[in-house]
Amino acid sequence: MPFSRDRGMRQMLADIDSEVGYTRRLIGKAALDRRVMDAMARVPRDEFVPDEMKALAFDNGPLPIGHGQTISQPYIVALMTDLLLPQADQQVLEIGTGSGYQTAVLSLLCRQVYSMDLIPKLTDAAASRLARLGYANVRIRSGNGYHGWPEHAPYHGIIVTAAAPYVPEELIDQLAPGGRLVIPVGLPHFTQQLLLVNKDEQGRTHTRDILSVAFVPLVDSPTATGDEQ
Ligand code: SAH
Repeated sequence: MPFSRDRGMRQMLADIDSEVGYTRRLIGKAALDRRVMDAMARVPRDEFVPDEMKALAFDNGPLPIGHGQTISQPYIVALMTDLLLPQADQQVLEIGTGSGYQTAVLSLLCRQVYSMDLIPKLTDAAASRLARLGYANVRIRSGNGYHGWPEHAPYHGIIVTAAAPYVPEELIDQLAPGGRLVIPVGLPHFTQQLLLVNKDEQGRTHTRDILSVAFVPLVDSPTATGDEQ
């Protein structure tokens, strides 16, 4: 069958809904926020995957994007966006730009998205892709996400789309009171736990363990970014 964005998108949204249903006890809800699903419906995932992957663009799974990295599974993107749930007047920080897909979804929900990735070739490609597709409220740069992007802090939400061995203290520091951090924590090559960290008005953090996930590692050194694919 020839590739059809509309058909692919309908299938992707249905698959997300089903997986939300299977995991409802873990995530504590039977459906994701309507605004999140609307944003998922508006971002053409096929624009964010390599040409040879277009036929698989709407499958509910991760796909390789080069440099040893992946675009995350649609269900996970939707779930993490739902946990972060940025409001229209807020700004958020994303660590792990990758293809820019998660960046695009977030940009439809909030005022401004800052996104950074260790691999300059990925940030360059994501920045031009997002500009071409008309996502104007995003700023992208390369850099080590363990240190966040302090110049624009504090953020109402911070989302980390790679697995960290611990919650980086500098990201907590850059969270506004009342803000949320969504981050997979655990060892690379094993499953990790997706955590939702809330910072209260007094600056205390409260952590909720959501479910097991499998992410590429948040690496700590620019030399450890994997070979070009
Ligand atoms: N959100 C992306 C998926 C990203 S995959 C998408 O929607 O396509 C994880 C990304 O984290 C990779 O691109 C990888 O280069 C990046 N990454 C790994 N370690 C990092 C670090 N220390 N700082 C910033 N980015 C990092």
